Amino acid sequence: MLAENLEKINQKIQLACQKSSRAVDDVTMIAVTKSVESDRAKELAELGIENMAENRVDKLLEKKMALSDFSTIKWHLIGNLQRRKVKLIINEIDYFHALDSLKLAEEIQKRAEKPIACFVEVNITGEESKHGFRSDEVLDFIHQLASFDKIKVIGLMTMAPLDASEQELHDVFSKLKRVQSTINNQHLSHAPCTELSMGMSNDFPIAIEEGATFVRIGTAIFRGA
Ligand SMILES: *Cc1c(COP(=O)(O)O)cnc(C)c1O
Repeated sequence: MLAENLEKINQKIQLACQKSSRAVDDVTMIAVTKSVESDRAKELAELGIENMAENRVDKLLEKKMALSDFSTIKWHLIGNLQRRKVKLIINEIDYFHALDSLKLAEEIQKRAEKPIACFVEVNITGEESKHGFRSDEVLDFIHQLASFDKIKVIGLMTMAPLDASEQELHDVFSKLKRVQSTINNQHLSHAPCTELSMGMSNDFPIAIEEGATFVRIGTAIFRGA
């Protein structure tokens, strides 16, 4: 079942890459395991999945412990992180996808033992309920991080509105791509900003067509693509 679902997802990734003349190797699928227990995550690891994500600190630590035999797995924290929890998690992960305030960056700078690959979260549509910077605030924020040697801004992350039409999804993702290119073009050593974390089960093919390099997929893996 899992293998079949993964196969379907891979086919969709390939198709989206073909459509947009992109190399399949440029897109990394991250398995989001927040809706399942560790034994299911372990099945994925046994199938060769090497990028795993959780949106909660305690759950990530639990899964990482349960999967400690799989030493090559890269761990991604994709959810919003409270400052008081930074010290518990920041040295346990390989990627952090939801950098959304200067205060949080300061705490990461204080607690991290080595540079952490971070995505700055962007709220493209400006929905009140969402975390992240507005597109016009991102560049300023990234400039403010120049002296933070524990934070490496490898890219930007966004979540599209759940009820968006196909056209709206294209718009949201292409806007994030444009902001990313602007930052990338500044050649900042602390913020290469080459990556785009966008696309979930419902919208990852569109995100890939618009330039996603990391897609975060949960439901389609565990309940079918
Ligand atoms: C849950 C979650 C996902 C995966 O969502 P699915 O629709 O289950 O694929 C991706 N990104 C974030 C930030 C999430 O919280």
